[in-house]
Amino acid sequence: MITSMKKAFSNLFKKPQTISYPKDPIDKPSGYRGLIEYGEEHCIYCLKCEKVCPPGAILFVPTSNPSDNPKNKKGLQYEYNEHLCIYCGECVRACPKPEEALWQSEKKPNIGVRKNEPNNHWKDIESLKRSR
Ligand code: SF4
Ligand code: SF4
Repeated sequence: MITSMKKAFSNLFKKPQTISYPKDPIDKPSGYRGLIEYGEEHCIYCLKCEKVCPPGAILFVPTSNPSDNPKNKKGLQYEYNEHLCIYCGECVRACPKPEEALWQSEKKPNIGVRKNEPNNHWKDIESLKRSR
């Protein structure tokens, strides 16, 4: 009992073991699986990344302003929702042009889902995909 009380008392003067994230930054381990990045000029528009994505965080949707990439025959535009993404890396493993058309960076996702309401915008993107 006395030992426990001594330990509890001494803990009052120690640095906390936790950090106040997101106010305080965290050290990322090497190989941290962060945001998915896209290189449109190397994409062959096979849509494999979209097909394998478990939560549907990558979608290709029709656009009135398609890229100049000759492989983009259907006039699609890449869309990515970092708030839906589970950072599994399946899209990069499926991509025939990894590191050029699609890669997983070590960048941390943005937080603040409620503030930005990204998923409201995503509903519009999903309905565009249905019209493909
Ligand atoms: S990392 Fe996983 S969840 Fe995120 S876009 Fe790629 S396949 Fe989808
Ligand atoms: S899998 Fe790669 S090449 Fe295919 S559509 Fe996705 S990013 Fe483009």
